[in-house]
Amino acid sequence: MTTAIKAIRGMHDILPEQTPHWQLAEQQLAHMLSAYGYQEIRLPIVEKTELFKRSIGEVTDIVEKEMYTFEDRNGDSLTLRPEGTAGCLRACLEHGLLHNQTQRLWYYGPMFRHERPQKGRYRQFYQLGVEAYGWAGPDIDVELIALSARFWRQLGIDQHLRLELNTLGTAEERLQYRAALVRYFSQYQDRLDADSVRRLASNPLRILDSKHPDTQAIVAGAPNLHEHLGDASRAHFQALTEQLEALNIAYTINPRLVRGLDYYGLTVFEWMTDSLGAQGTVCAGGRYDSLVQQLGGKTQHAVGFAMGIERLLALLAEHAPAPSVANADVYVIHTGKMAERQAWRLAEQLRDRLPSVKVLLHLGGGSFKNQFKKADKSGAQFALIIGEDEAAQQQVALKPLRTEQAQQTLAQDQVADWLSPFFHV
Ligand code: ATP
Ligand code: MG
Repeated sequence: MTTAIKAIRGMHDILPEQTPHWQLAEQQLAHMLSAYGYQEIRLPIVEKTELFKRSIGEVTDIVEKEMYTFEDRNGDSLTLRPEGTAGCLRACLEHGLLHNQTQRLWYYGPMFRHERPQKGRYRQFYQLGVEAYGWAGPDIDVELIALSARFWRQLGIDQHLRLELNTLGTAEERLQYRAALVRYFSQYQDRLDADSVRRLASNPLRILDSKHPDTQAIVAGAPNLHEHLGDASRAHFQALTEQLEALNIAYTINPRLVRGLDYYGLTVFEWMTDSLGAQGTVCAGGRYDSLVQQLGGKTQHAVGFAMGIERLLALLAEHAPAPSVANADVYVIHTGKMAERQAWRLAEQLRDRLPSVKVLLHLGGGSFKNQFKKADKSGAQFALIIGEDEAAQQQVALKPLRTEQAQQTLAQDQVADWLSPFFHV
């Protein structure tokens, strides 16, 4: 016997019993985004490797060790997207969407990172990304945070998420801070993890983002970026926090929050939960004005966030389980050649007349008893039965499957009218 082929480690199938939960969350998110005036953009899954190197930063976890990079048949270096911000901005610059105009955009789809798979951390995972271009002031930062706060309320999990906020200042302010960090961390070189020692020379801010417990203990005593902020950065951050307070959005300021990508400046934020163990960040984002020029555009303003959908679904499963969704509303049972032909016609007629009602037509023959078992298992409210007697009269026996109501007989042409009040159509 040949061995069965399994899925790639860290890449999951989303099975039919899970898809209703996914679909419900996806629909609700899309609806809220649209209500805030955000438009969907659909982007390629594969981009040139250079795009990610230039945007995310050479000295980041993603670019150093997590990208799925390969040479295609032309010898070009391509990468499965590890995130969506770079591709979204690339598309907007390429199609002139940032010429003298603002944009509110979102995208949804799989991302790929070669990380160690564990709970809440996969090699293929879904993200919802939201990006806004063209606003300098903190009002758009506030809008994105308010939008994400609404997600949690609408999905019924706002009790389980808290907002952490920070400002990373300008590039010049970070440069000063960098020197202070190098001075501080150099004292602890022998206790830092290997990545952090390396980053001490290349990108010391990244050390603040280390997941290594020993390093985290040292990070706790590190100097604070806020001491190096100028007036403009302070004012931006203050306006942001004041507006959040006016909207009753609770937050804590975490001066160590730097995010794992190089392109951020000024605002950064994360929505975290204690319900999911170590992988507690469900949604994260910030401002990345400098990235536009880095990718060849003119000065522009950009803010965005990305949400991990598996983590969101895990949180929903724990705190707001989706109602179970039946696979069928009505199940059509039949025996005999003539009955089968009528059953087909009836099923199609119901699909024409009641498009939102799920009609399952029994296929594959079998006894009445067997067909009833399938009808029951399908979750349908009603069985529609056409036996030889009913077929001869162009009738249907209609049997409620979930109530004690009696079975009754209807003309086939009346079934749609009879059913419609039960399904609010
Ligand atoms: P983490 O700190 O958990 O590694 P990150 O800083 O690498 O996250 P981002 O690049 O900001 O994450 O991605 C935004 C969100 O996408 C994360 O907050 C998380 O919810 C989700 N995410 C990131 N990496 C993974 C992964 N490997 N598997 C599942 N979800 C992920
Ligand atoms: Mg990561």
